[in-house]
Amino acid sequence: MAKNILAFGPNGSGKGTQGAIVKEKYGIDHIESGAIFREHIKGGTELGMKAKEFIDKGDLVPDEITIPMVLETLGKSKEKGWLLDGFPRSKAQAEALDKSLTEAGMNLDYVIEIVLDRGIAAERIMGRRLCANDNNHPNHIAFDAIKPVEKDGKLVCRVCGGELSVRADDQDTDAINKRHDIYYDTDTGTMAAVNYFKNAGGAKVISVDGSLGIKEVTEAIMKELA
Ligand code: AMP
Repeated sequence: MAKNILAFGPNGSGKGTQGAIVKEKYGIDHIESGAIFREHIKGGTELGMKAKEFIDKGDLVPDEITIPMVLETLGKSKEKGWLLDGFPRSKAQAEALDKSLTEAGMNLDYVIEIVLDRGIAAERIMGRRLCANDNNHPNHIAFDAIKPVEKDGKLVCRVCGGELSVRADDQDTDAINKRHDIYYDTDTGTMAAVNYFKNAGGAKVISVDGSLGIKEVTEAIMKELA
């Protein structure tokens, strides 16, 4: 049966890397709200232009843009199953998602939470590199397991040789801090969303220590997945 999974973890925790692996295990869709926005920006759409000003500063894109965009994408993956990454990022988004899942008759099977200290997460963000060909090709200059390779004196994607770029919001300390302020906020922020789904019951909660190596984190997650 198709699996539906929520993946939580602060920016820089390795959530995208692990999400790509879990997606492969179940053959489900990896839905990443941040990546959907970046596609819109690349394509020059109206939504992308509206979202860009918020993204560059590390602010949340307003709910009236984000929630319908993500829920519509999710609806398209109902048959296949999905791993949702980057959404919900607030208590309000968690409530909207919960309501929408109930209405659509979709169950939540797993909640994966990568737990990582804020200082370590911030250090990791700047080393990330984005593959131009595939968002599911993680590259990081400080981790051997996903280190980019050198070609003609240039670093390229270790999976496909594609061009690599850095995200502007990953090199800006204010934007990093803002994103982490939102993540670690237990009142209305992402941690409130994590706790919302943990307390709701129903889904199996998998909490893993994100300070471990990539392979160890994968093993810890895989052990808990059916
Ligand atoms: P990410 O790739 O997850 O780091 O997301 C990059 C940026 O996209 C965030 O800093 C926000 O500006 C925006 N974004 C992604 N997901 C959401 C969301 N669920 N709600 C609001 N804004 C979001």
